[in-house]
Formats: sequence, structure tokens, C-alpha cells
Amino acid sequence: MKRKIIVEPDPILRKKCNPIEKVDDEIKKLMKDMLETMYDAPGIGLAAIQIGILKRLVVIDISKDEKKNPLFLVNPKIISQSKTTSVYEEGCLSLPGQFAEIERPSECLVKYIDLDGKEKELKADGLLATCIQHEVDHLNGILFIDYLSKLKKDMIIKKLVKHKKEIERIVV
Ligand code: ZN
Repeated sequence: MKRKIIVEPDPILRKKCNPIEKVDDEIKKLMKDMLETMYDAPGIGLAAIQIGILKRLVVIDISKDEKKNPLFLVNPKIISQSKTTSVYEEGCLSLPGQFAEIERPSECLVKYIDLDGKEKELKADGLLATCIQHEVDHLNGILFIDYLSKLKKDMIIKKLVKHKKEIERIVV
């Protein structure tokens, strides 16, 4: 089932998410919904907080073609990051139409629990590393605009407020 994505500014996006104790059917169902919502948007990553659920859950799929390759991360925790950095022009499903160049560590090692409840470790680089770091930020109430100057950040938020008003306005 597709869920509604929360758009900045919204105080929910600034909350800290809670860890999952057990990967049960309810969590699996929720992650399937998150994946469907992400594919539909479309996006390459989505955290549960973006659909208003304050749980440490992330779905990612950076595959470009039709062959899907979803990654389900329960309680993801970044345990190390490289000193070298890389820059990507980032967007976010909670910041529609907004993009900015963000510098992050180019590699990271992430520990997480998979859909079968097994503990896993993944060493990521390139786009995947950036995507994981972006999503883990969401779980801590951080958005990519927080890395920008106050001026740039305020400009983006102003645009989003205007955008929100526009989508609410209807003539019937
Ligand atoms: Zn995002």
C-alpha cells in the first residue's frame, strides 16, 4: 500500500526515530509499503519517518534498470566512515524539487538487521554510501539542507512553504 510522504517543513521530520526490537510481520509489511511508496515517487531511498513512522527503518534501491535490487535496513548504524569525501547533488522525497551539492565521506561501513532478523554488515562506497548516510540522517531528524548555509537553507524552506500552499489550493 502506497503511503503519503511528509514534506518539509514539518516538525515530524525533525524527530529522532526509535530502534526496532523485533522484525515481525508488521515491520515486514511496513517496509514493503515503504518500498512501494519509494518506487512510485520515484526515489532511491526512503526512511520510515518520511511516511510519519518514527522507527529506525530504511529502504534503498539504487539499481537504475528494471531489475530491482531492494535493500532493507532495520536499525542501521554507521560504524565507520572514510576520511576521503565525495560530492553528489542530493535531492530528497521530503524536499520536492530541491537539490544541492553535499559533501560526505565517500565510504561507510553500516551495521543493520535484515528482513530475516539477521545482523549484517555492509561496506558501501559511491552513490550507495551517500544514500545510506542520507537515510541514516533522517532517522536522527537531519535533512540534507542542514549542511547548507543558513541563507541557502532558508531559501529552500521558503520555496517549500510556497509549494505546499500551491498544492493545497484547489478550484472545483
Ligand atoms: Zn531524504
